Amino acid sequence: MNRIIDLRSDTVTQPTAAMRKAMAEAEVGDDVFEEDPTVIRLEQRVASMLGFEAALFMPTGVMANEVAIRLWTRPGDEVLCDAHSHVVDYELSGMAALSGVIPRTVSTERGHVSAREVKASARPRSYYRSEITLLVLENTHNLAGGTVTTASDMQESITAAHEIGLKVHVDGARLWNAAIALGSPPADLVRGADSAMVTLSKGLCAPVGSILCSSREAVGRARRVRKQFGGGMRQIGHLAAAGLVAVDTMVARLAEDHEKARGLAAIVSEAKGARVVAPQTNILFVHFENPIAQELGDRLEREGIKASVMGRSSLRFVTHKDVTPEDCETAGRGLVTASKAI
Ligand SMILES: *Cc1c(COP(=O)(O)O)cnc(C)c1O
Repeated sequence: MNRIIDLRSDTVTQPTAAMRKAMAEAEVGDDVFEEDPTVIRLEQRVASMLGFEAALFMPTGVMANEVAIRLWTRPGDEVLCDAHSHVVDYELSGMAALSGVIPRTVSTERGHVSAREVKASARPRSYYRSEITLLVLENTHNLAGGTVTTASDMQESITAAHEIGLKVHVDGARLWNAAIALGSPPADLVRGADSAMVTLSKGLCAPVGSILCSSREAVGRARRVRKQFGGGMRQIGHLAAAGLVAVDTMVARLAEDHEKARGLAAIVSEAKGARVVAPQTNILFVHFENPIAQELGDRLEREGIKASVMGRSSLRFVTHKDVTPEDCETAGRGLVTASKAI
């Protein structure tokens, strides 16, 4: 049996040999007592890479987003965000369950809530209407297809939000990909935001971990909320050590993942009835005229190729370190063949 080509997500990536070595040898302490030197080093490193005062290691990106929402809202508030943002579609209504707030969604084409849409959300204050107090921006945007928002578009929305009194959190699970695609430092994409989250366990290949960045004061409060959510952890320098290798050595190579996604897109565009959204980063969506996504996914799986079935007529492919350009070619040809066989 040939090996599996797994294009479901960049989260399937294996930690590198350098990460495994760093994890084994990490200097650690009890992080609940704020005494783990490797965690402290990683938090400081990521805070400075993103231009924030302080940062906090989180077990997952979801927890980082949900802690941020708790920080910037009160029960009964609303959160402005794209209708298909991760905080809406993939966090099990966490904002409602954990913070007592609901999303106020905007339907966008590419996942970005523009300054115009932020301004349009403003309404006169009234005691009988809830208030929008937070804007969440997602860059890159997962469900829109790994789409990238430029630094200037980010800035305009952040400024517009602040002008009407909203805080801003950036869900930057794949901010690294956006920065590489744009050729700009990640700090430029989050400048002025009140908090930002980045993930270590996707394209950067660390086994676990996301980092929430904010002001020193807000990170102090976030540490309390993380503990309350059950996320106070002990000798996690072993995990942070892999995170340091990730942020120090694995960011630049994301360009290869983007190249692989473009290669895959070129082949897949020959599939029957397919509409391919040209990938800007490492996520490729393929939409079909008919509701055949599940059947295509099953056929690919029988060939040892895994993709994500997204609804009835779309497939998602995510490129990453553990697939080669040849694997992507094989997957692309597999899809073209399957599309003609149905
Ligand atoms: C993956 C992802 C997250 C959070 O991921 P975890 O699996 O909880 O680490 C948050 N936002 C976006 C956009 C994501 O793609």
